[in-house]
Amino acid sequence: MKLLVTGGAGFIGSHFIRHLLAKYPDYQIINLDKLTYAGNLKNCEDYANSPNYRFVQGDIADKKLVDELAAEANVIVNIAAETHVDNSIEGPAVFLETNVMGTQNLLEAAKNHAHGRFVQVSTDEVYGDRLDGSFTEIDMLSPSSPYSASKAAGDLLCLAYKRTYGTPVLISRCSNNYGTHQYPEKLIPFFIKKLLAGEKVPLYGDGSNVRDWLHVTDHCKAIDLILHKGKIGKTYNVSSNEEHSNLEITKRLLELLNLPEDRIEFVKDRPGHDLRYSVDASKIKSELGWVPEVKFEDGFAEMVEWYKNNQK
Ligand code: NAD
Repeated sequence: MKLLVTGGAGFIGSHFIRHLLAKYPDYQIINLDKLTYAGNLKNCEDYANSPNYRFVQGDIADKKLVDELAAEANVIVNIAAETHVDNSIEGPAVFLETNVMGTQNLLEAAKNHAHGRFVQVSTDEVYGDRLDGSFTEIDMLSPSSPYSASKAAGDLLCLAYKRTYGTPVLISRCSNNYGTHQYPEKLIPFFIKKLLAGEKVPLYGDGSNVRDWLHVTDHCKAIDLILHKGKIGKTYNVSSNEEHSNLEITKRLLELLNLPEDRIEFVKDRPGHDLRYSVDASKIKSELGWVPEVKFEDGFAEMVEWYKNNQK
């Protein structure tokens, strides 16, 4: 397989390429990443010199470059995105450029070069929030933020390319990931960084918003299964139903860092803040045999150790 993986210098993309190189040593991988503030080549340094791996700095919104690189591949896995909800509230335009127009460029290139598979890495946030129960893949999309709206638009374009042009798309919609190498703007690495610097952590609202946490390596294994065994045109939810409120996550961090609870500072809530995400992952489990392997307590504690040892 010759893969064009986008966003491979980010959190999930760098773990996914590491996973591929270890499991499929004969695959050729091109990592196309713009290196926005969220991308970091240090995330890829352990495999940067692999003979079957190549890094290209560039934008998925650059049609010509995308087409040239797609000509060298037979599969695209699109992981590149603008991903931070708070940024999308401040400035939505770049989210549309990357998450919608960038995705469309990649789809067009996959069509032009008759690629065998196109995997779109999406998010549970496209369904919006719900207080109880879980969304299945056929539920309506009801995104709340410009970020999730741009991801939903990308998903719909993928499905339209499948229906109109027969482009062999597959979509994953995963819950929140935790793990090493995440840019410190997202809750866990941001809070660890502040706590280690002796500062308080700003928790939105009363901290009762619930997120469903999956270890990043389990997400990568799910993308791998979808890439190799998923049914063309299908969407797969990915989650281990490990639900915790943001307050619970913060208290767990404090406990692991031996710090008191008065290091939490409750701040004004984010506009439109989703209360709870939950997706039903029965389909990927029953049809593709996916099982999450990392126990939350173990993965979480190991991750905290890594951030303790890897602050700049
Ligand atoms: P990230 O912000 O850590 O990394 C994104 C990467 O994409 C960065 O390396 C960045 O430089 C690159 N990028 C951004 N715009 C680009 C462009 N125009 N062209 C090329 N590269 C560009 O994000 P992440 O957390 O690794 O998320 C990756 C994907 O997984 C996203 O599509 C996101 O929606 C999805 N996802 C994330 C989570 C999560 O919890 N982090 C959960 C489910 C789904």
